[in-house]
Order: sequence, then structure tokens, then C-alpha cells
Amino acid sequence: MTSLEQTHAKPQRRTFFVADLKCYMCGSVTGSIESEQSLTGIAGAGNPVLLRYAGRDEAVQVANWRRLRCDRCGGPLFLDETDVVTRRYEDYNWLDERPRRGRPPKRLIEERRRERELLESQAA
Ligand SMILES: [Zn+2]
Repeated sequence: MTSLEQTHAKPQRRTFFVADLKCYMCGSVTGSIESEQSLTGIAGAGNPVLLRYAGRDEAVQVANWRRLRCDRCGGPLFLDETDVVTRRYEDYNWLDERPRRGRPPKRLIEERRRERELLESQAA
């Protein structure tokens, strides 16, 4: 079964259902929610979702968004602009992606030096 190995090596893809939570009464957007399960229909009822309040970065887990009310007027909320997004998660070596500090890493300088030397020796 080589196909199994291939899928394993590929970057992981996860599908998220995202939507804005909007107020029926005043139309203000409370925030956006996302879930790996469908947000609409019976299947989406009662699933915990991730809620990101408008203007804030951190997300909170919400057991049932249908219980939430508008911050401004207390009106009921509905899902607006539902969308499906696919995100890629790759096996990533975060240590290699450290912020640069103005100059290339030693390893790279060394590589370039060797390349230059090689070119010079060829030119001679
Ligand atoms: Zn409202």
C-alpha cells in the first residue's frame, strides 16, 4: 500500500465552515465563527464552534452559538456569509523559520562563499 504513504507525506488539508454572526435586529456583526462541522442544518445544531469576536484576535469556544445574543441590542443572531475554507497544515520545522536578524545565517554565508570560490576557480 504505497498510496497510504503518499497521503501521509502530503500536507494535511482541513476544511472549515466559517460564517459571520449577525444580529437580526440591528445588523451588527458580533463576530465570526468557524467549525469543522457544517454550521447550518440539523447537523450543525449544538456543535461547539470557535467564535472570534469582531475586532479581537483570540477565539473562544462556544458550545451553542444559537444561544448567543447581540452585544449591542440583545437581538437574536443569524449566520451571514457562510463559507467553506480549506487550510493546509504542513509538517513544518518552525526552527528553520526564525525571524531574520538582518543578516543571512552562517550556513548560507558559507554556501555562498563556496559558490563564489568555485566560480572564481573555474574562471581562472
Ligand atoms: Zn443587535
